[in-house]
Amino acid sequence: MLTHAADICQPRIKEVNHMGNYYYVNDNRTLNPGLHHEVHTEQHARLLGIVSKTYLGYHFDEVDAVAEAKRYYSDADGCVVCCPKAHQG
Ligand SMILES: [Zn+2]
Repeated sequence: MLTHAADICQPRIKEVNHMGNYYYVNDNRTLNPGLHHEVHTEQHARLLGIVSKTYLGYHFDEVDAVAEAKRYYSDADGCVVCCPKAHQG
């Protein structure tokens, strides 16, 4: 059982998580509604069950991740759900 005192020693995990994310680009464009290669966070790619994907690395935000994805696919776009800042349509 966790004691309340233990909480005080915990690092501020929430802030660390907001510093960035691991991103993937979907290799299979036909599965996307907009027929382009969508970029997802690691969590969302797993949620969607995307099996064929290219690892983009750790990025500060989705805009950065999509820029990286465009090195692989020129039509790369951010997912509307997990990458709203980089979503073009
Ligand atoms: Zn997504």
